[in-house]
Amino acid sequence: MESLVESFLPEGASEQRTLQDALDRCRHLGMRLSRQRRMVLDLLWSEASHLSARDIFEKLNQQGRKIGHTSVYQNLEALQSAGLIECLDRASGRLYGYRNDPHSHITCLETGAIEDLDVTLPDDLLREIERRTGFTIESYTLQLNGRRRIATGASSPVPLP
Ligand SMILES: [Zn+2]
Repeated sequence: MESLVESFLPEGASEQRTLQDALDRCRHLGMRLSRQRRMVLDLLWSEASHLSARDIFEKLNQQGRKIGHTSVYQNLEALQSAGLIECLDRASGRLYGYRNDPHSHITCLETGAIEDLDVTLPDDLLREIERRTGFTIESYTLQLNGRRRIATGASSPVPLP
């Protein structure tokens, strides 16, 4: 399963994947890198998932890194409007992630957890969609939903007969 997903990973699709890149971009944009802003960035990169402002506030304070709820919220908004982090609007509220490049998501229907996924659709499918819609596709993200299968070893691609 993993090798299948990896084979669809576009090479070099990410322009910003490391925390250092994000810090560099902050500086480049002239954003002040306060202690609180670094703490928020640090947590987003170390968790590498999709968290609400409350999750981030609670995790930081659990780690003994004192930060106010307002500060968490303001820093998230600033980072998001600068395009440095991801923001997902869900029915349950806003979630923030560390990636800022276009990517797809798979949501677990049991737990609601959202994982990042890189999917590249075949060119002929994209051309077909363009033909049917009259649009030129510039980017896309997929939203997939599912349940985790119990690992049986049968999840690897089945070879053709
Ligand atoms: Zn994401």
